[in-house]
Amino acid sequence: MVASLDLLLGVLAAAAAVAVGPLGAQASAVDNAQPVAGTALERRADRDWRLRKRATTTDAAQLAGQTFDYVIVGGGTAGLALASRLSENSSLSIAVIEAGTDGSAVEDEVLAPAMAYFGGIANADSAYDWQYSTEAQANLDGREVFWPRGKMLGGSSAVNGLYMIRHSSIEQDSWASLNNDSSVWTWDTLFPYLKKSETWTPPSDYHIQEASMVLDESLHGLDGPVHYSYPGLFYNSTYEWIPTFAALGVDTRDPAGGENFGAFIATSAINPSNWTRSYSANGYLVNYGTNLVVLTGHQATKIVFDGTTATGVEFSAGAGNETFTVSASQEVVLSTGVIGSPQLLQVSGVGPSDLLEGLGITVVKDLPGVGMHLADHLSGAITLNTSFPFSGDPVEANATYAAEQLALWKAGDANSLYTSPNDAVAYINLTTLFGNDAAQTFMDELEANKTAQVQAYSTNSAVQAGYDATYSAELRDVYPSAVGQAEILLSNTGSYGGYPGAVTVQIQAAIQHPLSRGSVKINSTSTFDKPMVDAGYLTHPGDVQVLRQAFKYARTVSQTPPFSEYVLNELSPGDAVSTDEEWEAWIRKVVSTEYHPASSCSQMPESFGGVVDTSLRVYGISNLRIVDASIIPISLSAHATAPVYGIAERAYDLLLTTPRGEGGSASSTQDAAAQSSSSSSSSSSSAARSSSTASGSPSTTGTSNAATKSDGTSAATSLSPVSTLATLLVALGTLVVLA
Ligand SMILES: Cc1cc2nc3c(=O)[nH]c(=O)nc-3n(C[C@H](O)[C@H](O)[C@H](O)COP(=O)(O)OP(=O)(O)OC[C@H]3O[C@@H](n4cnc5c(N)ncnc54)[C@H](O)[C@@H]3O)c2cc1C
Repeated sequence: MVASLDLLLGVLAAAAAVAVGPLGAQASAVDNAQPVAGTALERRADRDWRLRKRATTTDAAQLAGQTFDYVIVGGGTAGLALASRLSENSSLSIAVIEAGTDGSAVEDEVLAPAMAYFGGIANADSAYDWQYSTEAQANLDGREVFWPRGKMLGGSSAVNGLYMIRHSSIEQDSWASLNNDSSVWTWDTLFPYLKKSETWTPPSDYHIQEASMVLDESLHGLDGPVHYSYPGLFYNSTYEWIPTFAALGVDTRDPAGGENFGAFIATSAINPSNWTRSYSANGYLVNYGTNLVVLTGHQATKIVFDGTTATGVEFSAGAGNETFTVSASQEVVLSTGVIGSPQLLQVSGVGPSDLLEGLGITVVKDLPGVGMHLADHLSGAITLNTSFPFSGDPVEANATYAAEQLALWKAGDANSLYTSPNDAVAYINLTTLFGNDAAQTFMDELEANKTAQVQAYSTNSAVQAGYDATYSAELRDVYPSAVGQAEILLSNTGSYGGYPGAVTVQIQAAIQHPLSRGSVKINSTSTFDKPMVDAGYLTHPGDVQVLRQAFKYARTVSQTPPFSEYVLNELSPGDAVSTDEEWEAWIRKVVSTEYHPASSCSQMPESFGGVVDTSLRVYGISNLRIVDASIIPISLSAHATAPVYGIAERAYDLLLTTPRGEGGSASSTQDAAAQSSSSSSSSSSSAARSSSTASGSPSTTGTSNAATKSDGTSAATSLSPVSTLATLLVALGTLVVLA
């Protein structure tokens, strides 16, 4: 396809803009970009980079005093995916309560892919971020670590780094083993749901060839709500990534089918028709009916219970403002994320009784695991001075250049640096990081340390059992396998102006299966106060050793051709850091979150300090489920968004096919899993499996909501008396339509 004149002019203008003054070295910023099909005018005509027209409301009266079938708290990554799917059933009424705004005031910051890196809105001054920080971390030299979380429609999917990377089948099956589950949350079950969220578009043949990519369309979804694709502009360094790992003996494959090992160029949440971010708001929240009301600017303050049955949610626009109540005739679903979900449970009386009683909160259900088992990927970067023609440095350092690049993006130009987030990664397993013998010795030490670690983490026997179970599962299934213990990431976005004049590229390293555990605990009865987040970073001494080996490996990558041919010198940490002790000391000073905390409401048996069962129902409470990253019971070698979309898609079917009774009570899927598990002759010798017990109440208080259609998907069969009324009210109501 011949590039249009507009496009060529844009390219020339961009080249001219970067070829002058101190940015002369950036002159080839557009050299490797391939023109996209169609004229610029055609592309402008069908672009949808402004938030799509949608009906949301800021009017509390749309929900206050009303009854809906489902009330979903949190309009984030999982919440909007689930709400959108439920709204496909016209007989159901659904309300969503989101604390943040609809995000229309920050469209560019959300939609321009590289804005996530350059001047994004996930920062400590942003109204679109929850602005959490951890407690001082003793093993990080007493540092508090900033923990961004998106606060707007789309939640963290609106502000994140756009990586879309699924985890491995080994990890998913290890997760299922924690619940003695052989069918509900296994990889084979989850995989179709992961694909269901996705519309995948490969990059141009030119990029595939230049970057040595291996792709397999059969592993991808082709008609889901969220776009998984690749940037318009590939940085030159990206082309050197896979060949450099090949030189180190690390292979490549399409990672989407459960084998996310080795080096690859990851999919990003990019709509390649206009180079915009695809996320839960513009992916899922587009074609819903009038049976769904999305209220923004209001925060859930409490779950309402009748005894131990969730009947609704209290919400308010701010501390001290009027509080309203919305009722759920079927279920309340928490999708408030890894911090918000345990916080909301705890202020509502569901959590560790000693914590709740200390704050004067009436205990509805003593559930010691609420807020426990928290785990996060910890990461950092070495910084390189390179001879690559360009990196993202000038976007951060030069306002004029940044404005020009943004204008190119707004014109739909694939060559803008703003189309391009980071995407080259590698997942490296333990034996590659340590060497065979040292890896075995290391695992033996981890096994020997287990009891002491478990006892130090918590005095609660259920929480201890859960930590023991996840620790054992990871040691058994993950550590000796091909699964990455470290993620190595290429950061083309530069060092954010830290080294003027240099073309900087960073190689990041992040631990994927930390054995350290943290917690989320409220210290106030109000959700308007931040809870205490203790990430527990490096509380397990093995984690710093994995990170140390990962950073050494990152340095090795930088010193291996063809990548090394472009490396002038290592700017940080440089020669001063080379012994194990020096690496570990440096790590404690610099590492930070990779933004993937999970597990604070783990899906494990109640006897393991679990919070939800395999149907995502909260133990001891009826009509309450959790659908978000907090339910993931073990760390995944992945970025969390793709798994979370899969969880939400899976949850939709579970909501409609399992009774809404107490967590742990009978459900058709769970029974099927238990039966198949007990009849199987699994030879697993895992502590997790052997100590796994039936959990929760044996009672069946639930009422089935729906039937399963013959194709395996779900269809709602019941219509609550209030549904029709609520739907009517919504249709007649004064929905605020935002462009
Ligand atoms: C800066 C950053 C970069 C990241 N980069 C990546 C990446 O590149 N790739 C990747 O896969 N993952 C990334 N992640 C992680 C990923 O985005 C999250 O793990 C995932 O989106 C979490 O989804 P969720 O549904 O659990 O929570 P969220 O998407 O965070 O949704 C929770 C929602 O609940 C709302 N909420 C919370 N409390 C209340 C309340 N009381 N009342 C009403 N509403 C409430 C929030 O405002 C939010 O909208 C990143 C995260 C961040 C913050």
